[in-house]
Amino acid sequence: MMPESGKPNSLANRERGLARTRIEDLRSQIASHDYCYYVLDRPTISDAEYDGLMRELRALEQRFPELVTPSSPTQRVGGKGSELFAPVEHPSPMLSLDNVFSTEELRAWLGRLQRAVGDSIDFVCELKIDGLAVSLLYQNGVFVRGATRGDGRVGEDITANLRTVRPIPAHLQGSQHPGMLEVRGEVYQPISVFERLNQDLIAKNQRPFANPRNAAAGSLRQKDPAVTAARGLSFWCYGTDAGAGRPVATRAERHSEDLEYLRSLGLPANPNIERASTLEQVASYCAKWQAHRHDVDYQIDGVVIKVDRYRQREDLGATSRAPRWAVAYKFPPEERTALVKRIAVHTGRTGRVTPYVELEPVHVGGVTVTSATLHNQDDLRRKDVREGDTVIVHRAGDVIPEVVGPVLEKRPPGTPVWTFPTQCPACATPLVRKPGEADWRCPNRKGCPSQTVEWLCHFGSPDALDIEHLGYQTVTALVERGWLADPADLYALDATHLVQLPGFAEKSAQNLLDAIAASKRRPFWRLLVGLNIQRVGAHVAQLLAQRFASMDALAAANLDDLQAIEGVGPEIARTVHQWFRDPENGTLINKLGQSGLRVKDEAAAAPVGPRPLDGKIVVITGTLPTLSREEATALAQQAGARVTSSVSKKTSFVVVGQEAGSKLAKAQELDIESIDEAEFLRRLGRVAPRARE
Ligand code: NAD
Repeated sequence: MMPESGKPNSLANRERGLARTRIEDLRSQIASHDYCYYVLDRPTISDAEYDGLMRELRALEQRFPELVTPSSPTQRVGGKGSELFAPVEHPSPMLSLDNVFSTEELRAWLGRLQRAVGDSIDFVCELKIDGLAVSLLYQNGVFVRGATRGDGRVGEDITANLRTVRPIPAHLQGSQHPGMLEVRGEVYQPISVFERLNQDLIAKNQRPFANPRNAAAGSLRQKDPAVTAARGLSFWCYGTDAGAGRPVATRAERHSEDLEYLRSLGLPANPNIERASTLEQVASYCAKWQAHRHDVDYQIDGVVIKVDRYRQREDLGATSRAPRWAVAYKFPPEERTALVKRIAVHTGRTGRVTPYVELEPVHVGGVTVTSATLHNQDDLRRKDVREGDTVIVHRAGDVIPEVVGPVLEKRPPGTPVWTFPTQCPACATPLVRKPGEADWRCPNRKGCPSQTVEWLCHFGSPDALDIEHLGYQTVTALVERGWLADPADLYALDATHLVQLPGFAEKSAQNLLDAIAASKRRPFWRLLVGLNIQRVGAHVAQLLAQRFASMDALAAANLDDLQAIEGVGPEIARTVHQWFRDPENGTLINKLGQSGLRVKDEAAAAPVGPRPLDGKIVVITGTLPTLSREEATALAQQAGARVTSSVSKKTSFVVVGQEAGSKLAKAQELDIESIDEAEFLRRLGRVAPRARE
């Protein structure tokens, strides 16, 4: 006899047997990960890998529905209260969210909603804050109890700890409050606080937190509220007790109205929440925030899309695990685990020796990663990474991938501790580490090939002279052939040299020569960046160029002159002063001047007379109608401003042109003024010229 699927019984039974075994295995793995994540706040795999296990389990349960049990993690909310706190039963369940990972899955979700409640659905799109869900109970406007989500039905009473979280009001604003109001939201640790906290922990030789989510969870679930209070936690509210659909306390028809209501009570709702009514609008919100996820000072791991009208929510209902009226659109992972094939060190342009790991290739943060850095010997020792370890790798934005730490459970027995080398891997010079410094250095500044290659790459980088087509491999090939020992040699290269390099033909050689020639026109301060003087980056270089009109004036400056510049500390002043005392550096500067580079820049020197932007910190972003970026920078500097490349709380204003991207978003986020070119020119005391066609 054939079963309905058309397969012989024995085969179907075998498949079911295999599925059952795998399902049990997956459930037990997930249970142990849930324990590490929710109870210990110390996950041993990345979220993406955990999501992968859940997806596999869900797919198997869909194929074999008879194997689904109520206790399966696909049917319930993960997490469990610890014994530290009293249990709290939630008035309505605090559910989890179903995930989608692409626009296609989002479309399918929307299709299901439309089949259930019709085409006309409004949505609210919110950032998915990566923190800890909490429920806050207000009785007649007074905060009386706060709890974690726990298993969704019963959470932990953490009222005393939540009272220390500043943005959570003890009393609601206004006078007309419902007898009982339950507010739901996310407690999180701002990234800036997280970084500071981890630095402190490292300084005290304590284990740092893996990410802000774990730090928030660990800080909130402390026995001593004073510890929580010291951890700088923050809070966004994202709704009322809408676990089952319609909140009980407010009379609103829509979630968006409730968010406004909560704001009016003094509860902080995130400012980046937007309404949408089509798939395109939802998808564009998701795409925008995927690109700008690092522009806010809190970790977000996706977007939550919620049906706005409560009536439709009620019609859609919820499963035991998640509402059907909301979904989380998850961003691609920025953390994965990977196997360490080898550990080695690399000597950088200033001689700093940095350890790194070579990895089995892994897709993380949108790219395939084959190596990741550890900052220095202490970082390596503290994390105790060894060859053969499985490690968690983090890559966010364009930042260099970093090793978070090893997964100790996966370490093969007998794996030896890795020892830091005593010699430079490039030139075999014994390494030195000065007292009080974290880094080992190769002292062979002039003769180490690795330092030379890195310096020349830096010289041509967009931060310095911005020489297109001058990549790492080209520089290495030129150094190996002895044609390049310092940046001045670049200007003596000709096509006969370049065509001999692998991958170069006449056209590509000419392109590089053109780019080298173009670099002669870069402003003086960029040349200062390219000289590779320790601690002289864009900011200090601009200060130096503003104060001294030329290389000659700078070279002749004494220590007092240098130290007198605001923003240049004694350490930097000493380094700059010493650099100019070295005769070899004098020769280099002469060569660069003879090659036609700009070794003076009157425009950047401080003019006599009033300076309208004195003390201001300015960011320029996007394409301005008439001024190039460099012209605008020079004008701002002449007027006394400091021009920086990223927006921070200290930024005075942002000059915004067309197609301004993340910097404008960041300025809005931090509530920093943004102005257009015309206003910028007005502040400089100039009249705007007519816009370019
Ligand atoms: P979830 O984090 O995917 O989604 C639900 C949660 O989102 C809510 O409880 C709430 O806390 C939060 N949230 C943030 N912003 C929100 C907003 N604007 N509106 C509504 N909710 C918002 O689901 P979960 O059940 O809390 O956790 C499951 C996830 O946790 C997994 O997908 C995985 O990423 C991670 N996890 C990882 C491990 C591990 O070992 N690495 C273990 C367990 C869970």
